[in-house]
Amino acid sequence: MKVVRNTPPRPFDVAGVFPQLGPLARPAVRLHPRPGSPSPHDSSVGGPLLLPADQPWPYCDKWHEGSVNALLPVPQLYVRDVPLLRPPGQADLLQVLWCPWEHPPEYKPPTALFWRTAADVTDVLAAPPEPSEVEYEGYVPEPCVIAPEHITEYPNFLELSQELQQQLSDWNTWQAAGVAVDPSYEIARHEFYGNELSGAPGWKVGGWPSWGLTDPIARFCVDCGGAMSPLLTIASREWDASTYGWVPYEDQDLAALGHADVANPPKVQVSRGNDLQLYVCPTGHSHTDLIQ
Ligand SMILES: [Zn+2]
Ligand SMILES: [Zn+2]
Repeated sequence: MKVVRNTPPRPFDVAGVFPQLGPLARPAVRLHPRPGSPSPHDSSVGGPLLLPADQPWPYCDKWHEGSVNALLPVPQLYVRDVPLLRPPGQADLLQVLWCPWEHPPEYKPPTALFWRTAADVTDVLAAPPEPSEVEYEGYVPEPCVIAPEHITEYPNFLELSQELQQQLSDWNTWQAAGVAVDPSYEIARHEFYGNELSGAPGWKVGGWPSWGLTDPIARFCVDCGGAMSPLLTIASREWDASTYGWVPYEDQDLAALGHADVANPPKVQVSRGNDLQLYVCPTGHSHTDLIQ
């Protein structure tokens, strides 16, 4: 049975109050990974990949405690499930793998990204190798199916012009528009925009990246110098107390009970509770990643 998740609508249309935000709206797809038994023919997190049996499995080429390490599947996404993916050529399948090890100098798991054409894979690899070295269990995702959901996002507060930042921090603007803002935001007013109205927390494709560990950093392709765009966010949780307004309707009963696992079905922990953002060159050259 197909898993479905629906995010409640935002408290109000923020671009209606701040028209300068209108042109900055971007589509995103929340992936909502949920426990399941995906096959190689399903989109998944931590599930089996659709890989040709005669193709060598990707390994990490960095230093471990003595051995080479097979990479682990993280998400496999079919374009039919996530049309927002813009694959190069005829490809219709994205596979991202990582080494479950925080490698220096940035102490993050190195990622490998493959675009594939599903119809080309006739003889599917049945028994993939497993990594011999796992530094943290949080880099071994529990198998999940996904429930893709299209939403609209606006930039992180830190990516906005100073003028817009000031407007969003000015209580008078909100009050003049008749917007009832939770009094708990009285001390840090811009957090209302950040928590409730801009970008969705959790696993997603496209949209706007979140910032906070660092100021926003533009990412450029090493091959052509072009600006890279956000492809995928791998998250350590789908919501917490500050982003509770993004809990899908279908999860609200369980979320209310306070079980931490409900907010993180793949049980992934990136760098002790952060996100790993993947960016790609729009022409398909290269990808890069960043912890936030
Ligand atoms: Zn490695
Ligand atoms: Zn490029």
